Amino acid sequence: MISRKSIDEVLERARIEEVVGDFVNLKRRGSNLIGLCPFHNEKTPSFSVSPTKNIYKCFGCGKAGGAAQFVMEHERYDFPESIRYLANKYGVQLEETRQDAESIEAEKERETIYKVLEFAWQFFKNQLFKTEEGQLSGLTYFQERAFRTKTIENFGLGYASQTADGLTSTALKAGFTKEILQRAGLMTQNDGDFFRHRVIFPIFNISGKVIAFAGRQLQNNKRSPKYINSPETEIYQKRKVLYGLFHAKKAIRDENNCFLVEGYTDVISLHQAGIENVVASSGTSLTPDQIRLIRRYASQITVLYDSDVAGIKAAMRGLDLILEENMDVRIVLLPESEDPDSFVKKSGMAGFNEYILDNSKDFILFKTNLLLKEAGNDPVRKSALIKELVESLARIPEAIKRATFTQECARLMKIEEHILVRETNKAVAEFLQQKRRGIPSDVADYETRTQKEIFNKEDRPEDPHNIRFPEITDQYQERDVIRILLSYGDKNIPDSTINPLGRYMIASLEDIIDQFQHPVYKKIIEAYQAMLAKDQLPGPEYFTNHHDKEIQSLTIELMTFPYEYASWEEHDIPMQIQLHPDDNFKKDAHNAILRLKLKIVMDHIEQNQIRLTELQTEGNDEEMIIHIRMHYELLQVREQITSQFKNVVLKV
Ligand SMILES: [Zn+2]
Repeated sequence: MISRKSIDEVLERARIEEVVGDFVNLKRRGSNLIGLCPFHNEKTPSFSVSPTKNIYKCFGCGKAGGAAQFVMEHERYDFPESIRYLANKYGVQLEETRQDAESIEAEKERETIYKVLEFAWQFFKNQLFKTEEGQLSGLTYFQERAFRTKTIENFGLGYASQTADGLTSTALKAGFTKEILQRAGLMTQNDGDFFRHRVIFPIFNISGKVIAFAGRQLQNNKRSPKYINSPETEIYQKRKVLYGLFHAKKAIRDENNCFLVEGYTDVISLHQAGIENVVASSGTSLTPDQIRLIRRYASQITVLYDSDVAGIKAAMRGLDLILEENMDVRIVLLPESEDPDSFVKKSGMAGFNEYILDNSKDFILFKTNLLLKEAGNDPVRKSALIKELVESLARIPEAIKRATFTQECARLMKIEEHILVRETNKAVAEFLQQKRRGIPSDVADYETRTQKEIFNKEDRPEDPHNIRFPEITDQYQERDVIRILLSYGDKNIPDSTINPLGRYMIASLEDIIDQFQHPVYKKIIEAYQAMLAKDQLPGPEYFTNHHDKEIQSLTIELMTFPYEYASWEEHDIPMQIQLHPDDNFKKDAHNAILRLKLKIVMDHIEQNQIRLTELQTEGNDEEMIIHIRMHYELLQVREQITSQFKNVVLKV
């Protein structure tokens, strides 16, 4: 068992924003950070991290906790494993008390697989640098590819010798069992090494642990494949891994773009040239899991292709998946007979970047052009082309984005826009039906997982950072405004042109009072407005003694309980009913009103989008134009509101 003292030390050292930041692209908002929730599939960020409170909270799925919970949830670790992970990250030496042999065995099983992979990795690296065979075959191969020593070390490249059981016999001598070697995918059924006479590319998970290897053959042996990957194991699932992501994640986040290439050597060459935001989908065609991995760090994927047209057409099918995830997909066609590896070597970083800038095209427009070129003037092929194109268009989840692309494609193809709109709408309907029929497997996974967690809640080890949050109702923005109004409405604010605070608030809210959703909040604010109109100022006791029972009990509830979440979201001034420095009343009120206005605009945007989808299905183009225009106006209003937020936050 890990000692209590060690656990406390680890939890004290762990910074939530750093722990989460290793997995999620976080952006600052006020004193908090926000990002896309790694625990449920979402397109707009509702996952919030508070560095001051050292906790995270998802406002979408409700997952919340401290650094240890995050690691437990994310890496599927139990509590001791997550403490070990954090101890390792923060260099804390753990004090452990003895356990019985059985439970040590159970706990260490997964760790043993990681350990044997680590052992194998060291072995392959040694073979490369320290043996004659490795230097002659392996190192020479890498040097021919112009990999610098630093690059070879950075990517941990290695060499597997021609010996039948070089790794196996060494690992057995070091105390690993056959069973573990097999479970780690390092040994064949005939007790021999899985990788033989190949250069080795270790595959890392997102936190930098080796989980598998890929090996490239050195002789042109037609009977065996050029590349082989470790078989799937408990810790290695091809569809969930992207080669290079561990080395690339920071750059992908910084650039908000991820280059997708085909080969390991492409990744390494680009990285060596200074283009670090690059990954390859190793051993599989692109999967939804891989796309979601990228989406945690960036909203754009740029796919690099060599100019072999047949290859492009096959690969492009996978790209519809990216559209479905609402990411931007761009395509770059490399010059004739170049691959990313050869091209970056020739052109260098600056030349490469310039080429990308000049030649990157949006995927759908790229596809349209490519297919058009193929179809020529053949009418039959052209109608087949339309069919293929609407397959892509239908995958775009946002109606407005879809409409814009449909328009552009119609123009390129020189066909009537309404024809393409009609066909796309048919495809959208079909696609949605398909989706409804079959729930994607990972959603089902997620649901059973959540259920399991509810049932096993009692078994979970206790963690001091487990913090409970109050329930959030849909109207919490309204409630916050009302609470501040009732609690501080009669206070005077120094240097304010309108006093007291209640009058200032009602003036700011005037244009949205009729949009309050909650009937009782609406009643309260209308009553407040009516009193002010009669030049009377209602204090809290006016509402706590109100003849309307609903108003009365709600007022009492609001004034008795601290509602923390709203303040938690944007700033860290506690909003409990307690003595406050006077100037905070106005700031709290101002922020609460802005939040409410933002919520109202967002609701309008959402409703408008729903209406747009309907109009598109109906094929009502005229109405659509009006609503698209409305959409952009609403975006402007939203921008105005959020820009005021920034000002407020800056002053804090
Ligand atoms: Zn979530």
